[in-house]
Amino acid sequence: MNTVYTFGGGASHGDPRATDKTITGGKGANLAEMASIGLPVPPGFTITTEECVRYLREGSDFSDKLRSDVAEALTHIEKTVGKSFGSASDPLLVSVRSGARVSMPGMMDTVLNLGLNDETVKGLAATSGDDRFAWDSYRRFIQMYSDVVLGLDHGLFEEALEIAKEDNGYFADTELTAQDWQSLVAEYKEIVAREQGKPFPQDVTEQLWGAIAAVFDSWDSDRAKVYRRLNDIPGDWGTAVNVQAMVFGNMGDTSATGVAFTRDPSTGDRQYYGEWLVNAQGEDVVAGIRTPQYLTKRRREDAGADKPSMEEAMPDAYNELARVFELLEQHYKDMQDIEFTVQQGKLWMLQTRSGKRTAKAALKMAVDMVAEGLIDEETAVLRVDPMALDQLLHPTLDPDAQRDVLAKGLPASPGAASGKIVLDADTAEQWAQHGDKVILVRVETSPEDIHGMHAAQGVLTARGGMTSHAAVVARGMGRPCVSGASSVSIDIKARTLLVGNRELKEGDTITLDGATGEVMYGEVPTIEPELAGDFATLMEWADRHRRMNVRTNAETPADCRMARQFGAEGIGLCRTEHMFFDAGRISAVREMILAENEAGRRKALEKLLPEQRSDFVEIFTTMAGLPCTIRLLDPPLHEFLPHEDAEFAELAETTGFGVDHLKRRANELHEFNPMLGHRGCRLGITYPEIYEMQARAIFEAACEVAEKSGEAVVPEVMIPLVGTKRELEILRKLVNDTAEKVFSEKGRKLDYLVGTMIELPRAALMAGEIAEEALFFSFGTNDLTQTTLGVSRDDSARFLAVYVEKGIFQRDPFVSLDIEGVGQLVSVAAERGRATRPDIKLGICGEHGGDPASIAFCEKVGLDYVSASPYRVPIARLAAAQAAL
Ligand code: ADP
Ligand code: MG
Ligand code: MG
Repeated sequence: MNTVYTFGGGASHGDPRATDKTITGGKGANLAEMASIGLPVPPGFTITTEECVRYLREGSDFSDKLRSDVAEALTHIEKTVGKSFGSASDPLLVSVRSGARVSMPGMMDTVLNLGLNDETVKGLAATSGDDRFAWDSYRRFIQMYSDVVLGLDHGLFEEALEIAKEDNGYFADTELTAQDWQSLVAEYKEIVAREQGKPFPQDVTEQLWGAIAAVFDSWDSDRAKVYRRLNDIPGDWGTAVNVQAMVFGNMGDTSATGVAFTRDPSTGDRQYYGEWLVNAQGEDVVAGIRTPQYLTKRRREDAGADKPSMEEAMPDAYNELARVFELLEQHYKDMQDIEFTVQQGKLWMLQTRSGKRTAKAALKMAVDMVAEGLIDEETAVLRVDPMALDQLLHPTLDPDAQRDVLAKGLPASPGAASGKIVLDADTAEQWAQHGDKVILVRVETSPEDIHGMHAAQGVLTARGGMTSHAAVVARGMGRPCVSGASSVSIDIKARTLLVGNRELKEGDTITLDGATGEVMYGEVPTIEPELAGDFATLMEWADRHRRMNVRTNAETPADCRMARQFGAEGIGLCRTEHMFFDAGRISAVREMILAENEAGRRKALEKLLPEQRSDFVEIFTTMAGLPCTIRLLDPPLHEFLPHEDAEFAELAETTGFGVDHLKRRANELHEFNPMLGHRGCRLGITYPEIYEMQARAIFEAACEVAEKSGEAVVPEVMIPLVGTKRELEILRKLVNDTAEKVFSEKGRKLDYLVGTMIELPRAALMAGEIAEEALFFSFGTNDLTQTTLGVSRDDSARFLAVYVEKGIFQRDPFVSLDIEGVGQLVSVAAERGRATRPDIKLGICGEHGGDPASIAFCEKVGLDYVSASPYRVPIARLAAAQAAL
């Protein structure tokens, strides 16, 4: 098994492992693929991810095989470019680059210009005929290597550079001469010797292995771990290492470096999009040190910028780049995010990958590419990440609202966000944990800020372009972001910021518009999202390909309307208790709970009946004939008890009981473990009059709506927390008897179903027997997860994060179904239920009904529908289609 694969220089070995991302990582696999389709790629080789895993497992040791394979692969590069590594006359320089299976932008470290030392720098100067370039490269190398490999503080080097500039009266780096760089190199070496107690390594082989080790080690760095946790990337994949001949974008004014997208990653428009810098090396563009220039003339003009675009300044290289864009899109059949360098007029490709994009762009590209014939409808449906739709389903700024614009930056990631200003990532996380909405404001972000960006509603930076770290990460997370707002200056000590001439402080509220780049004072009102256009097209395709129905969990008419707009095909869960908390009703509910006997309860229930009935009338009217699953009262009565003296006083007045009596009653009803207490169908068993009232409200409402609209809903009456067949048998009879009574009173008969939730392990196991009484099952996976794992959802926050970190759970089981464990109970229950009643209706109504991974599982088990909260309905529709494809 190869430990190393070479690419470029016409070396194409048919081994599929070379272009397998799991083996050579995303970057390595694509470099090999680009080289094999004839694109200009500097030659190099990739060390496999397997070697990284082995290295980390074996306590940071390289195998002998790896050492000899690397030596051999290095010879391949030397032969191809005709230079040799460590040669004093014509030295080969390489970059050492990380590259995991999926892109982890900015997470891992890269070392450029490796192979320079006091001797080879002279060779580089001689062969290039450019002293300044050679010494500039050497100082870059020392700084980068010291930071990434030796772990020295890069601030030390920046300081020395700043002092050198000041001493010489320079303003920009470009003013430094060859001599200046040379003396800076001497100073840099002194810094290294002083800081680490030994000189900067002059042996190029030692440099190479040092860099390889650093890339391997970076897989386990804190920031890589955070990124993996946020993105559900397993810790055991490892990273590949790419060693590649250097090409130089810093060889004068015919050289350049840049990053580009084959389409606009923000809007999805079919327009090249990118940024570049003349006479610069890769890191300069993303680091935000110099403000990059636009790639195309059109963009430059739109932005009113005066520095020339690449299209204008380097037309030949630009045309070649445009040709490569087209080839890459044809080859990968997707929008590509690329990195390139121009060395003395010649274009070199350094990276390509499927580009990250906003949800809006993802939809537009998917729909456009079908129209262009690049991909088919199925691919388009599979291409869009369901969770990304979330970005589109949320409000944007009301265009008619007043805006007090403080500053304008680049529209780096769309969406609107309001929140309190916070100036560092830790504060962002702390405030967010206390329930504050925050906007993270930084000069520029770095990978150390990821957790703060995650906690924030949006991100604002003073520096950096559209492809800066902040912009890329924010787009990936779906956080609105305004970058490069240069009129913002931050005083981190005083915890204030100056925006133009206005002073704000940490904690003040601002609003960002990621679509325009505007930063506004205060909170600006928002409007509902637009669901037409590409969104509607893709949803239509998704609907054509899915098998499962998608319903919603909703109980207010407003939620029902919203869900229907989002395409819900019914209600999967209407929680009747939510209606009990309404201000006007809670006292009747309390009266009922605290009543001493059935007569007392019935008296209170009579007050509730018309209220419930009118709720159902509204819901049934809104749902216009679609199926509606209504769950009878579920939560522990405990939850409705009064707490405040004023509440008791009020209750005393309406019921005529004394406060002391009521307090004693409330005390009696206290439960130690209410979630496993007097709740669910146990309420119906002990106080049948409660369920009787609810059933009556449902059927009376159904009759009323059928009468008025002619559109008969089919109520699905759902009994919660059933564990035995007998419970359901008793309650089903109660519901049936009530239905008969109402029907004979109203003189009309309607179809309806009685079924149960499956949310206790016993119910899942006994599903065969329970199905004798149930016409449908709805998996209540929130409770089923609690009861199967023995983990209380509301108390799990304290330990679940640690469980996920330690790999005990891959993901929070309340967010994504524990398929291995809880999933077994779902499969078993589905199977046993169907064995008894082949046409039994099966659905899921837990939170998991809106989670794509859980939806894929539901498709596998063959459920009839999933039910999700209104905003998640489109996500569920798309995920259901992807699961079926
Ligand atoms: P990241 O994963 O952080 O983007 P890369 O390995 O892609 O890191 O390296 C960052 C930048 O360094 C690249 O965009 C490119 O501009 C520059 N670079 C990497 N390798 C080379 C090379 N062989 N020649 C010239 N520039 C390079
Ligand atoms: Mg890169
Ligand atoms: Mg439940």
